[in-house]
Amino acid sequence: MIPYGRQDISDEDVDAVIDVLRSDFLTQGQCVPSFEKAVSEYCGGKYAVAVNSATSALHLACLASGVTKGSLVWTSPITFVASANCALYCGAQVDFVDIDPETFNISVNSLEQKLKQAELTNCLPDVLIVVHFAGSSCDMEQIDSLRQRYGFKIIEDASHAIGGSYGDSKIGVCIYSDITVFSFHPVKIITTGEGGMAVTSDELLADKMRLLRSHGITRDAECMSGDPDGGWYYQQIELGFNYRMTDVQAALGVSQLSRLDSFIQKRNQLALRYYEMISALPVSAQCVPGENLSAWHIFPVRLHAGKEIRVKVYNQLRAAGVGVNVHYIPVFLQPYYKKLGFDPADFPNALEYYHGAITLPLYPGLSVADQDYVVSCLEESLR
Ligand SMILES: *Cc1c(COP(=O)(O)O)cnc(C)c1O
Repeated sequence: MIPYGRQDISDEDVDAVIDVLRSDFLTQGQCVPSFEKAVSEYCGGKYAVAVNSATSALHLACLASGVTKGSLVWTSPITFVASANCALYCGAQVDFVDIDPETFNISVNSLEQKLKQAELTNCLPDVLIVVHFAGSSCDMEQIDSLRQRYGFKIIEDASHAIGGSYGDSKIGVCIYSDITVFSFHPVKIITTGEGGMAVTSDELLADKMRLLRSHGITRDAECMSGDPDGGWYYQQIELGFNYRMTDVQAALGVSQLSRLDSFIQKRNQLALRYYEMISALPVSAQCVPGENLSAWHIFPVRLHAGKEIRVKVYNQLRAAGVGVNVHYIPVFLQPYYKKLGFDPADFPNALEYYHGAITLPLYPGLSVADQDYVVSCLEESLR
């Protein structure tokens, strides 16, 4: 089976991990700070906090942004459930903003309309979590101007997007947002096995996330109430978690990061090839504005046919050994979210997108011959 995505592990990656295994510290050593420094230097965000998954990073980002019981968090419905769950962890209420049918990202127009409506009914969101779907940035400048007008905070769920750019700046620079979150799950752009990172230019947000990543415990006398009892002393000053990344993971991350640009280049070459090869087929690919560089985590396309055709295409490609997938089932259709009372009719673009969506295989190791085979199978299944 040609998978829809897979990691690319080199001998150097393996050696980097083995070196940590032979060292004194498997966790809480020097590799995690090195990885944080490398990622923040790469993307231009000032502070980076490595954790055990992007889901944890999203949770910490929400907590640091003040999300709590009674808060309102908006996100895209076409995303992995974690983009919304993180707000529920904090006791907040979640709502969705419909997508743009061409970029598959949150629609700035829908966002603006929804904000206008929310202002009238006095229920403006506290935080907006934008998702750079498939690695392609949302229109951050426009979204930022709405943030300034309506006063919400912005978290970028860039789980798909490390290595991508918005205009002249790398995703993660946080010019138009408060915090950016990356995922290092093996299907994503670079991997640490499991892992994630929150990047920010705000030192206070970074400090909060660092504290909460490790039980809410501090060893910094300045943060304590009273004087330390001695050298062993620490204080728990918040209710935190164990969301730490291990040094084994971070060493793999540092090694992977050194190949990030070549991964992005390869993914872009393959994506461009897909565009050319499917141009005559009754499908459309994601529209990526010319000034941006997508990280191309996945290659989703929309079939221009009924839902039944999508099932047929999916089954036929799978039977032919092509591991297509669907990204994503709209979050509001999940039974857990349905119980919260969402009306699918409020998100017509997301629903229509879902019914035609299919993800074609894309990863740096995908050969041109395999890609040709994928497209010929797709063509065949659409006949
Ligand atoms: C993968 C993913 C996550 C969760 O990442 P983990 O590292 O697996 O926790 C969150 N949001 C989006 C959009 C993702 O694709």
